Amino acid sequence: MNGTVSTRVVCCLDGLDPAYLAATETLEWDRIAAAGATGECQGAVPSLTNVNNVGIVTGTHPEEHGITGNTCFDREAGEQVYMEDPSYLCRETCFERYADRGEASAAVVAKEKLERFVGRGCGVTASAESPPASLVEAVGEPPGIYSGQASEWVLDAAVHLLDSRDLDVLYISTTDVIPHKHEPGSSEANAWVGALDSALGALAARDVRLCVAADHGMNHKSRCVDLDRVLASEGLSGEVIPLIRDQHTYHHQNLGGAAYVYLDTSGTPATTSAGEADATGANADDAAAVADRLEGTPGVDLALSAAAAAERFALPSDRIGDLVVLGDRETVFGSLEDAGSGNDGAADTQGGVDLRSHGSHHERTVPYVSNHEIDLAYNTGAFAALDEEE
Ligand SMILES: [Zn+2]
Repeated sequence: MNGTVSTRVVCCLDGLDPAYLAATETLEWDRIAAAGATGECQGAVPSLTNVNNVGIVTGTHPEEHGITGNTCFDREAGEQVYMEDPSYLCRETCFERYADRGEASAAVVAKEKLERFVGRGCGVTASAESPPASLVEAVGEPPGIYSGQASEWVLDAAVHLLDSRDLDVLYISTTDVIPHKHEPGSSEANAWVGALDSALGALAARDVRLCVAADHGMNHKSRCVDLDRVLASEGLSGEVIPLIRDQHTYHHQNLGGAAYVYLDTSGTPATTSAGEADATGANADDAAAVADRLEGTPGVDLALSAAAAAERFALPSDRIGDLVVLGDRETVFGSLEDAGSGNDGAADTQGGVDLRSHGSHHERTVPYVSNHEIDLAYNTGAFAALDEEE
């Protein structure tokens, strides 16, 4: 199918906060920009890896694609579950659309959990976590998924696929272990950016229409707020879902800047004078009262009803609990035990931490670059921007 037409390549550089680019030289990025365009665009809130990668490959916001975090709360089962099964996906991927018109696509990603989502409809998929033997033979054994070099392996594998196959479309997604552990301008971070930059140069040297963006940024966090304890101290009950929670706790210790709160998970909502519970279970008046109290908590930037959050951040109101809580720039949510903050009196609701994480609206601004003159408002527009260049 490909013939003389350039391969469209979308590359998601995980956790590439604009500050990392500003802190070091990026000759290849600049060269690509000079031929096309660069700038900043918005990612989805919650600013998490899967939410944004799924947004990019479906070209939609969470209200349409349905992925609202790494973890969600199953009201029927009454427990938290990992949102890792593609059955949670409510939209077709771009690869399914491209397959329908006879185009060949491939995706190389860092983590297996993401491969299952982005692989829908994709002709060839590979992850650094469990790579196919053919790729190992071609580009070597991938370093461990928690290694800083895992992203380089992903990009090497992507270049190999470009060179060895007749592809119309290629998707690449790396891992954010370095930005989680190292601040912009540190030698480790600069080495990571340098390696990514070289790989972008290798991609751009091929016959490709390239769009590179990030899923989310990254900020230093100095405060952990334990929302379970905040609720308890107010005499309230509810289930707090730390959205970043997944099976890769090495990266983030389950501490991120966004949480969903499910009030009254017993399934028998309280009634008010209006006597009506909303579709998500909790009473709207109760939710508003709890939101007010949470917004008065130091470290909490926003506590929004599901309806308000759905409208503001294009989220599906039936998959975000009763309240969406977003931290300020320095704050993560999670258990003080996980945070190891040393502030473990049962009455304490927050403590100090020293880590780098994401999840809130403070990490939604991300950089992009393309060798074509595109103008990207959201990272979800990456594939469409290249399609329009045809
Ligand atoms: Zn990420």
